[in-house]
Amino acid sequence: MTPHLPRAIDQGLANCHVCGKVSPVVLRHCPRCGSALHLRKPASMQRTVALLIAAGALYLPANLLPVMTLSELGDVMASTILQGMAEFWRRQAYPIAIVIFVASIMIPLIKIVALVWLCAAASGKVHSSPRILGRIYGFTELLGRWSMVDIFVVSILVALCQFGAYMTVTPGPGALAFAGVVVLTMFAAMSFDPRLLWDRLESLKAPDPTPPPPDRE
Ligand SMILES: [Zn+2]
Repeated sequence: MTPHLPRAIDQGLANCHVCGKVSPVVLRHCPRCGSALHLRKPASMQRTVALLIAAGALYLPANLLPVMTLSELGDVMASTILQGMAEFWRRQAYPIAIVIFVASIMIPLIKIVALVWLCAAASGKVHSSPRILGRIYGFTELLGRWSMVDIFVVSILVALCQFGAYMTVTPGPGALAFAGVVVLTMFAAMSFDPRLLWDRLESLKAPDPTPPPPDRE
């Protein structure tokens, strides 16, 4: 980090969210692509917190309600994510059980906790080093690519197990709640502006009159 360098926000320069061109924010619209210019994503924190609360509210029904209903020769069996995982474990399909546990229970929970931590850091409720915050943000970006794994598993099972009158698999209400958690955490990660973290750290440094020595990476 080089804290002594002027920042774009201090010069009134905004980075276009669409094409990346840096222009004076007073123009209000990007001279290249015409998109609205903002110094920071508008209401980033409020949107992220609202989406996280909604995702947290859906996390319990996603794990407690049946994600799929299996009908086999008249027998109807509804199973939650945990029951499905236990069933695969009992049949010694350990890799599938582990994938279900990681994709369905761990990843959404870690993502919600990481984003809550970032929001708390950006609003000054907790204090972490920029290096740790950068890693947490990078981790949420990385998790984002794996968010849809579980919905794929359910949709593939539903597609594979349509054996007419003998056996059918239908998605249960838990699957809807689970899809809600996945989509809401994706939007929460997208609406969070990581520059708010560095703004907070800069504002903490601001009262210091002596510029720190240059720090070469
Ligand atoms: Zn643009």
